Amino acid sequence: MVTHSSPLVTHEAVYNFHDDASGVKAIIAVHSSALGPAAGGCRVLRYANDVDAMRDALRLSEGMTYKNALAGLPFGGGKSVIMLPENAGRPDFDRAAMFESFGRWVDSLSGAYVTAEDVGCSVQDIQMVSRETGHVAGLPAQPGFAGGDPSPLTAKGVFLSIEALVGHRLDSDLDGVVVGVQGLGHVGFALCELLYEAGAQLLVSDINAQTTAVAARLFGATVVKPEKMLDSAMDVFAPCALGAILTERTVAELKASIVCGAANNQLATAAQGQQLADRQVLYAPDYLVNAGGIINVAAEYLRETHDSVETRVAQIPTRLMKLVQRSEAEGTAMNVLADRMAQDIVSAGRRSQVA
Ligand code: NAD
Repeated sequence: MVTHSSPLVTHEAVYNFHDDASGVKAIIAVHSSALGPAAGGCRVLRYANDVDAMRDALRLSEGMTYKNALAGLPFGGGKSVIMLPENAGRPDFDRAAMFESFGRWVDSLSGAYVTAEDVGCSVQDIQMVSRETGHVAGLPAQPGFAGGDPSPLTAKGVFLSIEALVGHRLDSDLDGVVVGVQGLGHVGFALCELLYEAGAQLLVSDINAQTTAVAARLFGATVVKPEKMLDSAMDVFAPCALGAILTERTVAELKASIVCGAANNQLATAAQGQQLADRQVLYAPDYLVNAGGIINVAAEYLRETHDSVETRVAQIPTRLMKLVQRSEAEGTAMNVLADRMAQDIVSAGRRSQVA
């Protein structure tokens, strides 16, 4: 195993890990510890190359700093990625050993980074990580305490945010409102369930046809081909798959007047935030509305109750609507304002650490 840490201009530290025997590689990026230990989930993917994996780790960990700051959590921003080796799909691949190695790597940082689930990683995987380190959350809940899969809480925060934005922009509740959900994984599927119960009409897309078929059956959702989702006619677009889907081209074609979803890093570049504002599309900054999961993870790590999680998640739409009001009053794009607010909180944390 080779480990090294390299501080970057934008990040406090980046650690590279490699298990020579299995070929598994991982990166842990610590963006900021100004507000506490760096916390953020572990993304498990087959990356085309190391540069793509590093780019993901750096972008996602910075987003976690902003997310944790705006959510008022005593944690900094960090993220890890595990680069699945080529043999990961084979029946003899030892997934448990991979997550145990990762657990030892997390543990070697002595609590500077706290991990949990993200794309490609389940509660069962995190249980394997926990065999090797205590710096982990997203484990099955203990009676009376927060815990378990964070995805339903992420979906709840996004749902409440969509509800608030629809009330503001369309002067309506969700009954009959058309919502396009891209990606029916842990969060997207739970979001569909909440939207369906509230009377929304669903458009759904996923590269996995089985999950969209289930959504069609259970929620009466209309299935859209993945490449057709962004320019389909809908009131709200809820991206819940991967990031960078709002590009110059897709924003120009977007039919929705509200974008609010769970996917991290939805904007390909910050310029798309302004492009959305110019097109009068109300964009909910991803790291503000998808904080429900990390709120749950933080509460579990700090041994808080589930009720405290529900209370904090219910505050997400209030925070969002304050941002909307400021954005409309100042004529500043939502992403710019959110970044500024988060940076101010982090700077104040850094000053109090130094004082
Ligand atoms: P997941 O892996 O369970 O689900 C992702 C889904 O997206 C999968 O069903 C996949 O098939 C689908 N998908 C991939 N590419 C697609 C495409 N081009 N078009 C349509 N569907 C596609 O992941 P998740 O945990 O549900 O997370 C979804 C997003 O939300 C991610 O960006 C994640 O980082 C973010 N997020 C998740 C949480 C959480 O609590 N799980 C918290 C905050 C943010």
